[in-house]
Amino acid sequence: MIDAETMTLHHQEHHQSYVDALNAALADYPELQGRTLGELLTTLPELPEEVRQDVQNQGGGHLNHALWWRWVAPGGSREPVGRSAERIAETFGDLEGLKEPFNAAADARFGSGWAWLVVDESGRLSVLSTPNQDHPISQGLVPLLGLDVWEHAYYLSYRNRRPEYINAFWEVVNWDAVEEQHGVAAALFGF
Ligand code: MN
Repeated sequence: MIDAETMTLHHQEHHQSYVDALNAALADYPELQGRTLGELLTTLPELPEEVRQDVQNQGGGHLNHALWWRWVAPGGSREPVGRSAERIAETFGDLEGLKEPFNAAADARFGSGWAWLVVDESGRLSVLSTPNQDHPISQGLVPLLGLDVWEHAYYLSYRNRRPEYINAFWEVVNWDAVEEQHGVAAALFGF
């Protein structure tokens, strides 16, 4: 389980701070305010230098957490479903075969960051980790599932025991949200 106090702080303090900081960074750039986070994060090198790092950090933090709440939302499927389930089985054999590299990526991330199950433009699945709040779309990859391994995501319950938190995460994954992300990627990439 992930305790209620952690979830409340995570949502109301940490996530909100990314939203507020992104809005502050873009305050003087009305032409950027109308763009989606996906558009901003896929065009980082083209953004004005003064806002590029804030978009990467705060915009990434906003998008990562918007997805996070759906991935750990109560209810929904307790096991992989639909096309994403088929692709996981084809790529990793079974769920245990996915957990092995995913958990290793989450555990090996030094400091703060995320572990991801991603899909590329050809529909190929892979596992990776990014530092800080970097979002996979900046590498042309759509995340099907992500795990926040910043200490703020687990320290109240698990202290420094990140592997216990990683194991607990799998108990609360909402696999409908994974399937929804696969649909987002299929529409974006046209596979
Ligand atoms: Mn977080």
